[in-house]
Amino acid sequence: MINVCVNGYGTIGKRVADAAKAHSKIRLVGVSKYSADADASIARMQGIDVFVPKESAGAFESKGVEVSGTVEELLDKADSIVDASPDGVGRKNRVVYEEKGKKAVFQGGEEAGIGLSFNARSNFEKALNQNFIRVVSCNTTGYCRILKPLTERYKIKHVFASLIRRGADLNDAKGSQLNSVEWKAKSHHASDVQSVIDVPMSSIAFKVPHTHSHINSMFIEFDGEKPGKDDIYELFRNERVALLNTAATSSQIVEAARDLGLKRYDIFMPCLLVNTYMANGNSVFLSFAVPQESIVVPENIDAIIAQNSAMSREESMRTTDKLLGIPDIKEKLEKAFS
Ligand code: NAD
Repeated sequence: MINVCVNGYGTIGKRVADAAKAHSKIRLVGVSKYSADADASIARMQGIDVFVPKESAGAFESKGVEVSGTVEELLDKADSIVDASPDGVGRKNRVVYEEKGKKAVFQGGEEAGIGLSFNARSNFEKALNQNFIRVVSCNTTGYCRILKPLTERYKIKHVFASLIRRGADLNDAKGSQLNSVEWKAKSHHASDVQSVIDVPMSSIAFKVPHTHSHINSMFIEFDGEKPGKDDIYELFRNERVALLNTAATSSQIVEAARDLGLKRYDIFMPCLLVNTYMANGNSVFLSFAVPQESIVVPENIDAIIAQNSAMSREESMRTTDKLLGIPDIKEKLEKAFS
């Protein structure tokens, strides 16, 4: 069994903790909490051991949250630490992990140099035995899951990517301005994808005031043959990607996840919006929606498995998919939006 802890129990951390708890090769030894809020109480209600900074134990106990020990003690218990702390904090935490000789999986809000940039479908083998892995961000994960199979079958000349980013997560008190669209030319997404796969790419990102999902569009120039719509269905049949042909809004996809009774509306996959497919000459235009809160959860689990060399890529991805219900979610969404 791999002893795993989650340091940073927020949007990403709570989802990874749930998945880790359900994995047959992983023992979740606990999570860290830095504020004595509802998340801490709910973690305890779910049987998760909560560890807190030494000086904060009193604040948690006075709120009736049972504390299992200090963050320091939690880190000592783990073979692998999933660091899901706020952007940039992982860099400071890494120093502590190094001192303790621990392996860690960081998130996409950290700079690429913190560890191997990882996407299970694209470079699982490179992550075997790696002490420090960085699961790339939600959008980059979406691009890797879609572009990797395309690069294996076709020759890509260039990808122009345009992102419409959600301004805040559902539980955020922070976020984008209410009455403004903000953009970043030459956004980091292209180089982030290139830290995982070799594909010529440029990107621009727009941030808009909504909470559910990022919408990405790609204008892909192929060198020679390009995929038709049927080829797209064939290529992604067995990938961690859902193919939706009749969705017309991001909220329809979220509503479907709610109606399917999925915990936290999590679908763990980019939704390739097949009805956006357009082709001209050697080029294809295609959009996809990214469920930003959940898409990186499978990669976090596969990263733990890879850095502990506990399974092959195929076995790890199959096991993770099964425990998260990904094949079933994919089938149902594809049927609903066929
Ligand atoms: P979040 O703000 O929801 O959660 C961060 C948690 O870390 C909070 O519970 C906070 O209390 C805790 N924390 C505070 N100080 C800490 C410390 N010193 N060490 C460890 N934890 C600490 O953030 P999030 O949205 O879950 O993002 C976490 C990481 O995942 C970031 O790198 C982010 O870029 C990345 N990410 C986020 C999303 C998303 O859509 N939310 C998607 C993909 C990747």
